[in-house]
Amino acid sequence: MRAYERFLKYVMYDTMSLEGRESVPSTPGQKAFAEVLASELREFGIEDVRLDDKGYIYGSIPSNIEKEVPVIGFIAHVDTSDAHPSPAKAPRIIEKYDGRILELAPGVVLNPAIDSNLQNAIGCDIIVTDGTTLLGGDDKAGVAEIMTALEYITSHPQFRHGKIAFSFTPDEEIGTSQDHFDVKAFGADFAYTVDGADFGDIEYENFYGASAKVTVRGISTHPGEAKDKMKNACLIAMEFDALLPPWQRPEHTENYDGFYHLLRIAGDCENCQMAYLVREHDDAKYEEKKAYMEKAAMLLNEKHGAGTVLLEIEDGYRNMAEMVRPHMHLIEFAKAAIAECGVTPRVPAIRGGTDGSELSYKGVPCPNLGTGSFNHHSLTEVANIDHMDQCAQALLKIMAKYAEFEK
Ligand SMILES: [Zn+2]
Repeated sequence: MRAYERFLKYVMYDTMSLEGRESVPSTPGQKAFAEVLASELREFGIEDVRLDDKGYIYGSIPSNIEKEVPVIGFIAHVDTSDAHPSPAKAPRIIEKYDGRILELAPGVVLNPAIDSNLQNAIGCDIIVTDGTTLLGGDDKAGVAEIMTALEYITSHPQFRHGKIAFSFTPDEEIGTSQDHFDVKAFGADFAYTVDGADFGDIEYENFYGASAKVTVRGISTHPGEAKDKMKNACLIAMEFDALLPPWQRPEHTENYDGFYHLLRIAGDCENCQMAYLVREHDDAKYEEKKAYMEKAAMLLNEKHGAGTVLLEIEDGYRNMAEMVRPHMHLIEFAKAAIAECGVTPRVPAIRGGTDGSELSYKGVPCPNLGTGSFNHHSLTEVANIDHMDQCAQALLKIMAKYAEFEK
């Protein structure tokens, strides 16, 4: 079965994950879909398929070569974003997309002139939504591609490979999929998440990310009798923000530039709260950015009195590049596999986080591969059928390269 055929089946399952739920997975649909995948894997003849009570699938295919090589793993997530309704209602195939503007529903328009991924899809068969739902390519494209590669291995015993591990996880979109991920049960030495957008992308440099909470305590009085008494918390919050370099905001940064993003501000004269995201690719610059915020808070406390500004910084994800760099075969093999599929590999820096980052720090270096589906979390989602085939091919080529692995 081709990857897209599987994909069209998978996107009909409702696997939206939702924040703030007690249960793991957050929604029962994810577990139900995992059961479908588990039985499909068993139908392939894979004996080692484990579905745990939290909805995680782990499994492996034993090596069929003499040589000792690393165990390579592949991961995709089964849940889809809650940004728009899902599951997909009426996905439709457009054969040999000719580059015209597509109006999927009133106001839901795909235009290759402003969409470089769509530009790359001209001449390919693509899948689009009916303009009212998500497609779910994030990450069912990845799921379909890994499944297709696994089916190929089990039906082609002459294909030589080391031990292959795989995992399908819930709740990635709500940021908790790594919380219950069992690295030991997964059992891979190195892995790839198949969870990117355009096919050909290999991502292993992501942001260091922190969240910062600023609480300003003011003093409220009657404005008519405020002289030398009032401290307006909102104005002090504005002072704090003004101390941060304005050119280091998301809207002025790209590529390897870091930023401070003012996520939220709310308050009154007595109390004002601000929430920031701090992002940077470089470790030293990341530390500098956090230290700079501390300095701003200190300065304002000197000016307005101790305890006026309270800054709490919490570290989030870390740049996985640090963990991947000692194992650049992960990148070199992926590059070569993609090039053999006729696509020029690209290694862009991710301006966000990824699940692979946490996993890399848990000891399984794990770059991310593009799936050939794009415009994720939007009504204009597209899955490129040809690129999905190529991605499944590339996964097999990566496995073949690891069968030849020299330490
Ligand atoms: Zn994803």
